[in-house]
Amino acid sequence: MSELTGRVALVTGGTRGIGLATARALTDAGATVVITGRDAANAATVAKEFGGYGLGLDVADFDAVGTAVKRVTTEHGGLDILVANAGIMENGLLGMLRGEDVRRTLDVNVSGAVAAVQAAGRAMARRRKASDGSERRGGSIVLLASVVGIYGAAGQSVYAASKAAVAALARSAARELGGRGVRVNAVAPGVIRTDLTAGLPAEVLDKQAGAAALGRLGDADEVADVIRFLAGDGARYVTGQVLGVDGGLVA
Ligand code: NAD
Repeated sequence: MSELTGRVALVTGGTRGIGLATARALTDAGATVVITGRDAANAATVAKEFGGYGLGLDVADFDAVGTAVKRVTTEHGGLDILVANAGIMENGLLGMLRGEDVRRTLDVNVSGAVAAVQAAGRAMARRRKASDGSERRGGSIVLLASVVGIYGAAGQSVYAASKAAVAALARSAARELGGRGVRVNAVAPGVIRTDLTAGLPAEVLDKQAGAAALGRLGDADEVADVIRFLAGDGARYVTGQVLGVDGGLVA
C-alpha cells in the first residue's frame, strides 16, 4: 500500500505545470486525484492520461469553487488533500496597471484560494468512512505562494501582493482549522520552468538562475515532490508554514 492509498485529492489548475506535476506525484503515491481546469473537456482529457478525474472550474467564481468541492466529496466519498494551485501572473509596472487587471489577479489568486480553503476545510472537518475502510477526519491543504510575495519584484506588484496574501491565508487558516485536524501550509517556489514563466525575457531567467544557491531554475516536479510531502503523514506535525522551494534564493 502506498502512502496516500485511500485518500482523495483535489488539485485546482491541474492541467499543466506545477498542478499537473503535483497531480501525477499524488497519484503515484496512491491517491485518487481530481484536477480542475477552466475547460472541462481538456481537464478530463489530461486527467485520463494519469488515471485521475477532471472537472471544469474557474476559481475566480467563488461559489463555483464550493460547488466543485461538494461534487468531489459526493462522487469520491470525501476529501483529504487540497492543492489550491490555480494562479495567474500578469506583469506590469505600477503606472500601467488598470483596475480590471488588479481585480482579475486578486479574484483568481486570492479569492480563488480563499474559496477553496473554505470549502475544503468544511469537507475535511467532517468525520467520515474512507474508501480503505478507516474512520477519518481532517486533511491537508497546500497553497501556492511565491518568493515574489516575500521579496517583491519590479513589474509584479499585484502578483506579489496576491502571493503575500496567499502566505497569510495559509498561516491564518492553519490557526482556524488546526483544532479540526486540518493542516494548512504553503510552498513559495522560486522561478520554475512552466508556461507561466516561459514568456519572461532570457536575461531575467538567467539572473534568477544565478541568484539561486543551486545556480539554476527549478522544474515543476521539484515543487510537486515538496507538495506531496506536505500533503502526506510525514508532515503530520507541520502546519501554518510557508516553505521556500527556490534552490536557495539569495535576495
Ligand atoms: P501555469 O500557468 O503553467 O499553470 C497554471 C494553472 O492554473 C493552469 O492549469 C491554468 O489553466 C490554471 N488557471 C489559471 N487561472 C485559472 C482560473 N481562473 N480557474 C481555474 N484554473 C486556472 O503556472 P504554474 O507555473 O504551474 O503555476 C502554478 C501555481 O504556482 C500558480 O499559483 C503560480 O502563481 C505558482 N507559482 C509559480 C511559479 C513559477 O515560477 N512557475 C513560482 C511561484 C509560484
